[in-house]
Amino acid sequence: MSADPNCIFCKIVAGQIPSNKAYEDDEILAFHDINPWAPVHILLIPKLHVVSMADVGPEHAGVLGRMMVLAPQLMRALGVTGGFRQVINTGADGGQEVMHLHLHTFGGPRPWKRG
Ligand code: 5GP
Ligand code: ZN
Repeated sequence: MSADPNCIFCKIVAGQIPSNKAYEDDEILAFHDINPWAPVHILLIPKLHVVSMADVGPEHAGVLGRMMVLAPQLMRALGVTGGFRQVINTGADGGQEVMHLHLHTFGGPRPWKRG
């Protein structure tokens, strides 16, 4: 599925819901989490609607790899020097609330609100 009209993150990709963007290219959007757990908390998403890691196949290897490579670049650009943490919640038992695959990346000096 390329976009789900009921998906919050697809609406952010389409510009129908505003976001504080950290990065954008043809396939990937990174934006600041609306309820940050750490001084820097961004979400990296494929622009294509992929529900979760449970729905990933070989065709997603490229974009997922690029998201992983992008995250440290964005942390550096956002001034994170002391390390960062990456989390992908998958499905109900994995604590996933927004059903569009996203890579949380947290950084900045501790203490953090969560994580
Ligand atoms: P999950 O629990 O699904 O892994 O994380 C979803 C994340 O999306 C949460 O950290 C939540 O704060 C964030 N989020 C939910 N809705 C919005 C939104 O409309 N804009 C932004 N920037 N973040 C959102
Ligand atoms: Zn979506």
